[in-house]
Formats: sequence, C-alpha cells, structure tokens
Amino acid sequence: MKVDIEQSSGFCFGVENAVAIAEDALRNGETVYCLGEIVHNDIEVSRLTGLGLKAITYEEFANLRDCKVLIRAHGEPPSTYAKARENNITIIDATCPIVRSMQEKIRKVAELSRDERGQIVIYGKEGHAEVIGLMGAAGPRGILVTGKGDLHRIDYTRPVFLFSQTTKSKVQYEVVAEIIRLNIEKVSPDHSSSNLKVHNTICRQVSGREPRLREFAMKHHVIIFVSGRNSSNGRMLFEVCLKVNPRSHFISSPDELNPEWFRGAASAGVCGATSTPRWLIQEVAELVAAM
Ligand code: SF4
Repeated sequence: MKVDIEQSSGFCFGVENAVAIAEDALRNGETVYCLGEIVHNDIEVSRLTGLGLKAITYEEFANLRDCKVLIRAHGEPPSTYAKARENNITIIDATCPIVRSMQEKIRKVAELSRDERGQIVIYGKEGHAEVIGLMGAAGPRGILVTGKGDLHRIDYTRPVFLFSQTTKSKVQYEVVAEIIRLNIEKVSPDHSSSNLKVHNTICRQVSGREPRLREFAMKHHVIIFVSGRNSSNGRMLFEVCLKVNPRSHFISSPDELNPEWFRGAASAGVCGATSTPRWLIQEVAELVAAM
C-alpha cells in the first residue's frame, strides 16, 4: 500500500513559534507555567511536560506569585496581563503574531466606534481561549456569535464590525456575514453597506489547508487524520476529509490505528491539524506503511 503525508499538515506557524518559545524558556531547568495546554494535542503536551512545562488553570494562575507564566499562541484578554502585573508574574508571551495583531485591531475599532456605539461581533466557539482573548479586547460592546442561532443578539440599527476566530471555516463565516448584511438591509436599507464591516481574519494557514486537504482526501482510498480530540481546528479539518472520503478515520494516538481500515486499499493518506506535531504524523505514516 502506498502511504503519503499531506505536505501542509502539522503545526501552523503560530503553534510552532509558541513551542519554540517554550523550549527556549525551559532550557535552564526552571519551572515555567503555561496557562492552559500549550497545544490541543496530548502527546505533544506530555513531551513538553517532561521538559518542565506545567499547565495551570485560571484559578491556579490567580494564586501564583513571583514566577514565569507562558501565554500560548491563542493569546489572552487584558485581564490576564493585569493579574500578572499585580502578582509579580513574568509573562513569556507566545501569542501568535496574527492573533496579537487581530486583538490590536479589535481594540482600535472598539475605541474608534465608541461614539456611534459600534458592535464588535466575534464569530467563534464559546469558551475557546482565542475567543476569550478577542472578547476581552472588544470590551463591553463585544458580542459573541457561535452560529446563526446567536444572531438575534445583534442590534441591526447600529454599526457592526465583524471578526472571526482565526480557525473557523471560511465558508461558514461568509454565510454568517451575509445573514448579518441582509438583516441590516431589512432595518436600514440605506445603511446596509456602511453599517457592516467584515474583517477577513481567518488565518490563511488554516483556510489554505481546506482545499488542499479536500484534494488529498479524494486522491487516497483511506485517510488517517491525526489530531487531539479537543482541537476545534482538528474537528473542522477532519470533517473536510470525511465529506469527500467516507473512509476517513480520526485518531489522536498511533494505538488507535485499526488494520481493518486498510483492507483492500491501494493507498492511504496521513494528515493532521495545525496543532498536530509533524513528528507524530510521520510516526503514524510509518506504522500505516507497515500494516
Ligand atoms: S492558526 Fe494561524 S492565527 Fe492561529 S495560531 Fe496558527 S498561525 Fe496563528
């Protein structure tokens, strides 16, 4: 059986950068705390835990003093930085530069639209770390929209500034933006274009993967998608494969591979999410080739 690895699979630039910053900070043997898991991948998390990185919750963070805390690629709201200053915590900031620049843009838009009571609408997953950071940047006029069902939260007579979590599907974001535009048109036909500003904030590291993965999944008899179960990007990209290839399988660890999946298959493709380490994808591909 021929086995291929999808070339763009593996850590995105933001996660790779955060892991490199963590490895660097751990070099002198000091304990470094990390707010939440550095990446949505248990296997990579345990590798870094072995080097001294300790994942902590927000409750634990609130009780820490005089230590070093790493902020992962997803970023954090302003309240986290304020708490660190209060408790003499040194922040090692590994926020992805793309996320950081979106936070700054949101802050600026919120400030500039204060007089017109502009609404900063964030399309994203509730509770996701990046979304919490973006909502924090938006301040009190921030509105979280997780899907069509939340669109009633928007006041369509006031300006809307729309942003998306970086890892959402481009197609779904366009659908949400279009419904908002139509709703604005209903209440104020003269302002339908000026009252909505859609910011293109889906990360190209993710959106570029969708079409590439679709093509890759169609080319192979069996697809093995490797990702942590709590990675929203992983779930979304796996759905892309499953839609075009029903013989797509999601695994989070090499032990989950099942030889039955490859019965009669002439080719298999191995791919993963932006939070899947490349070394793990490689390891899975070698195991599949030996089946
Ligand atoms: S998906 Fe894009 S924005 Fe998110 S961490 Fe990776 S590179 Fe940064």
